[in-house]
Amino acid sequence: MTDATYGFDTLQIHAGARPDPATGARQTPIYQTTAYVFRDADHAAALFNLQEVGYIYSRLTNPTVAVLQERIATLEGGVGAVCCSSGHAAQIMALFPLMGPGKNIVASTRLYGGTVTQFSHTIKRFGWSCKFVDFDDLDAVRDAIDDDTRAVFGEAIANPGGYIMDVRAVADVADAAGIPLIIDNTSATPFLCRPIDLGATLVVHSTTKYLTGNGTVTGGCVVDSGKFDWSANDKFPSLSQPEPAYHGLKFHETFGNLAFTFHGIAIGLRDLGMTMNPQAAHYTLMGTETLSLRMERHVENAVKVAKWLESDDRIDAVTYAGLESSPYYDRVAKVCPKGAGALFTIAVKGGYDACVKLVNSLEIFSHVANLGDTRSLVIHSASTTHRQLSPEQQEAAGAGANVVRISIGTENADDLIADLDQALAQAAG
Ligand SMILES: *Cc1c(COP(=O)(O)O)cnc(C)c1O
Repeated sequence: MTDATYGFDTLQIHAGARPDPATGARQTPIYQTTAYVFRDADHAAALFNLQEVGYIYSRLTNPTVAVLQERIATLEGGVGAVCCSSGHAAQIMALFPLMGPGKNIVASTRLYGGTVTQFSHTIKRFGWSCKFVDFDDLDAVRDAIDDDTRAVFGEAIANPGGYIMDVRAVADVADAAGIPLIIDNTSATPFLCRPIDLGATLVVHSTTKYLTGNGTVTGGCVVDSGKFDWSANDKFPSLSQPEPAYHGLKFHETFGNLAFTFHGIAIGLRDLGMTMNPQAAHYTLMGTETLSLRMERHVENAVKVAKWLESDDRIDAVTYAGLESSPYYDRVAKVCPKGAGALFTIAVKGGYDACVKLVNSLEIFSHVANLGDTRSLVIHSASTTHRQLSPEQQEAAGAGANVVRISIGTENADDLIADLDQALAQAAG
């Protein structure tokens, strides 16, 4: 049931799923198995040669995970998807087929903090590097792309600064250079933004966040649009050239627009092993069934709470693209027409001490290092995740001493406002 003519609300429940052929079970079973019995030796050989698609071992494929893969691919308008163990795993899985020693990516300066660390330090161990550029400066993006650039990477709704990326404009720059654009769509979800429709080649997710929706399991996903010509030049040999570990098979020639997805499973999961387990896939499948309902409420609440905060004189600033005061307000209609998400930051009068008192005094909001939960969450980055940085680095990261990041949940907005009101009173006192 992946017919793209169905509406989003229908697809988020049905895409990829069908009654279990063995038992008729209506809900997707958790196939809690490591291995699958081969019909005979010929069947096994065909599977191992990638001549037949089927299940071998759950590091590569699992029926529960496969339903989630098909569902997320459908919701994003892609041809295939590979799930993995976390959002950060998904980023490595997306880059792995494209990169090699000496190759680089061009990434937005406005990214999730953990991604900045992964791209500025960890990927160097693979001989990869990253150039960070302001994605509002398209000439700078163009200039940063060189002969060794293999991908452009950004977030549709950047976490947490209330930034909306002009996905279409950056996609055009990447297109002109003949390299893929990868969009991290975690903060937006496919309900608010469909990067592939705006020209992205690949979409990555931390399914840990809104797709699962209730803070239970970590997971990630890489979705392929199926639209990139991996053989147009010699930049992507993993996809266009013979693969020694599969008897010289060429992924793009053999699997066409599914080349990236097959490579992700047959090479990526096989050798990197960042596999999503079926139990996690089950929780995330449960989450996707209510994605649109939750996102509508997340956005409605975020707008109400952000407007209230903006009018409160204990607050210096609210950075939320859903507010008319935001420099990115005009991009919402173009990039994420159903809303600007539910993450924003506030600058609190009274600086560091007031922020610490605020997070200590909140009762409904939890002080945690997470986002995209049904529960409302806050974090004071300067005293936690960004504690090791100098004051200058904290400012640059949007995590100054006076900044609190808020992830608005699906509770009653009036209760959230009352909680903030009492906590701000204590912070000011
Ligand atoms: C959380 C997050 C990640 C990392 O995902 P994990 O599942 O924690 O590995 C990447 N990008 C964004 C935008 C995120 O919010």
